Amino acid sequence: MLSEENNRRGKKKSGHPFFWGILEVFSLLVMFAAGILAVQKEDGEEAISFSRHPLITIAAVADSFLAEQKVIAAAESAGDTQKELTEQKEGEQGEKEGEKSLEEAGKEDESLEETKKDEEIFDGSAIALTFDDGPFTVVTNRILDVLLEYDAGATFFVVGSRIEMYSDTLKRIYENGFEVASHTWSHQNLDKLSDEEIKREIEDTEDGLSKYISVKNVLVRPPYGSANETVRALAGTSLINWSLDSQDWKSRDADKIIKHILDTVQDGDIILMHDLYDCTAEAVESLVPELIERGYRLVSVSELFRIKKIPLEEGILYRKPGDHY
Ligand code: ZN
Repeated sequence: MLSEENNRRGKKKSGHPFFWGILEVFSLLVMFAAGILAVQKEDGEEAISFSRHPLITIAAVADSFLAEQKVIAAAESAGDTQKELTEQKEGEQGEKEGEKSLEEAGKEDESLEETKKDEEIFDGSAIALTFDDGPFTVVTNRILDVLLEYDAGATFFVVGSRIEMYSDTLKRIYENGFEVASHTWSHQNLDKLSDEEIKREIEDTEDGLSKYISVKNVLVRPPYGSANETVRALAGTSLINWSLDSQDWKSRDADKIIKHILDTVQDGDIILMHDLYDCTAEAVESLVPELIERGYRLVSVSELFRIKKIPLEEGILYRKPGDHY
């Protein structure tokens, strides 16, 4: 009996909420429709009569709901896009800051890990060939031909007083993407000059270059590698010496130049040569393919510092990336 009573009660209980549920849904629909009519009237739109078109009204309510959902979805999507953009931007900024901090860390940051990374990227070591005292049409062009043939980079430290006479050669250097730098105007020992003369040697060369090619604040190689504290302070740019002297000026012998360089070259070296002597051009014709064969990437001075992640700083006299006076 008890269980039957419970069953009946249970049935009564289960029937009761179902009935009220129907009523609740109906009353909700009425309220919803009334709400829509009120809103539409306020907006001055044509009111849809609930009593005449109940199905249309329900459809309109559904449409309105869906439309609103679409607007919300669109807004959220836009928000997401904005968020994504912001995140992307923050990411990029983070990367930039990362790069910046790497640069700022300077030579101390040239960790083993980064050296490994470079090796992965370049599959070998990098060195910079540099040519001083030119341009000199015959020799410079011969050197350029070899460099172009092997897709090698280099830096030419040009003497200012030669610019006008050899402007075509200068333009060929520049237009083929080689780095043009300054070897001062008249190849004097800067240590022995007055402040005014030092500035003029550097500025006049830059002005002379600017007449034919588009360069600014070029690197300077002081003649004879001499740059005392005064010269460095007045230079207004980075000063570049060398870590490997080909001694072409001394031996004037292509075989000796080749042997000396191949016997002593190391990763990161800046090699001193002169585009003045036939023997230098002859040596370069053998050296360029041989150095590439040995796994060296031949680049300009600026590119070498970039590869080694060493920032070029104003007023510093470098022998090579990570080695300065
Ligand atoms: Zn010189």
